[in-house]
Amino acid sequence: MNHKQIHIKKFGGTSVGSIEKIEQVADRIAKDKLLGQNPLVVVSAMSGETNRLISLATQIAPSCRGQAYDMLLASGEQVSVALLALALEKRNIKATPLLAHQVGIKTDSLFSRARIQEINTKQIKTCLKMNHIPLVAGFQGVTNGNTITTLGRGGSDTTAVALAVAFKQSECEIFTDVPKIYTADPRLIKKATQIPKLSFEEMMEMSSLGSQVLHCRSVEIAAKYKIKIHVRSTFEQTEGTWILPKEEFMENPLVSAVTHDRNTVIIKMYPVPSGTEFIANLFTMLAEKHISVDIISQSYHKEGQRLAFSITAEDLEAAKKIIYEIIEQKKVHIIEGLAKLSIVGVGMANHPGVAARFFKVLNKIGVDMHLVTTSEIKISAIIDKKYLSEAAQAIHEEFILIY
Ligand code: ASP
Ligand code: MG
Repeated sequence: MNHKQIHIKKFGGTSVGSIEKIEQVADRIAKDKLLGQNPLVVVSAMSGETNRLISLATQIAPSCRGQAYDMLLASGEQVSVALLALALEKRNIKATPLLAHQVGIKTDSLFSRARIQEINTKQIKTCLKMNHIPLVAGFQGVTNGNTITTLGRGGSDTTAVALAVAFKQSECEIFTDVPKIYTADPRLIKKATQIPKLSFEEMMEMSSLGSQVLHCRSVEIAAKYKIKIHVRSTFEQTEGTWILPKEEFMENPLVSAVTHDRNTVIIKMYPVPSGTEFIANLFTMLAEKHISVDIISQSYHKEGQRLAFSITAEDLEAAKKIIYEIIEQKKVHIIEGLAKLSIVGVGMANHPGVAARFFKVLNKIGVDMHLVTTSEIKISAIIDKKYLSEAAQAIHEEFILIY
């Protein structure tokens, strides 16, 4: 490769969560630089900051979105990128803090879920040539008209991977507060163990199923451009978890991880007009409001058509508005207090019987499912939230996660 190697390093919110931690990140960058690396750094907002900004906005208007909202949220990264620049300056290391408009991170204009369309490499290249470390504010972009946008919660990962694409790099480091990705959330499952490597496909499923390790879009881009992601600890020198193409695996684990999502709501409708017109219209209206529907179940009965689907709890109010416009309230049942429990593993594709084992475990502990869905490499079931912990432990136990 004739491109100079650049070391793209993204530090998450917990890594820059206090002045003390920002100083530690600056030490780590300084050390890497001394070792001859050529860092290009991306930072998130200090942990808790984006939530704080959201709560300020929602005190004024509960479901506000748009230009002002994104401008507000993007300010978190401006603070951390500037503080890190000061910390490096103090160490006599030249670094340039850059916001999205300075770099030229162009996105579409879908506020709060903007997608990066293009990154201008000129400004960063100039920094690198002057031997300055470019420090890029993650999570933000600008439209063609220079209006600030944000990439969706957790979006700094995507900034980092997109920079790796723009600079034709083959790797990207994502620094966080844990040494590796776990087989399940250790706060829910004490016996969760560390995973040395995962395939892009598995990580993508995990991200979309509620694991908050990486922004789903970042893994999509990494998979498309074959950029290896190294998720590792900011505060330890240890090797973390590698997210790699499937081809790099000698053997595929049956189940790599158990994930969960506590924000699920099911909307059931019965009876709905027969045929597909009603369903097509309903889902078009939901899509127009950017409400994504997760699991869908539809069936015919003598008495009429039944429809059930799940969405995330945050979208419930917006979804209700649409639904009650087109169907009588008494035909709609909303079930809250649910969680989605899933298992993910590339090995599942070639092994029958995984679903049977999954259901047997739930049956043994007496947990019912509201909706279930499978793909080649995952099984997800929506259950009552009060059983989540017990069910997750039992599922984790069943599919012994040994590497
Ligand atoms: N600060 C943003 C968030 O909390 C983006 C990120 O952390 O990646 O969602
Ligand atoms: Mg994150």
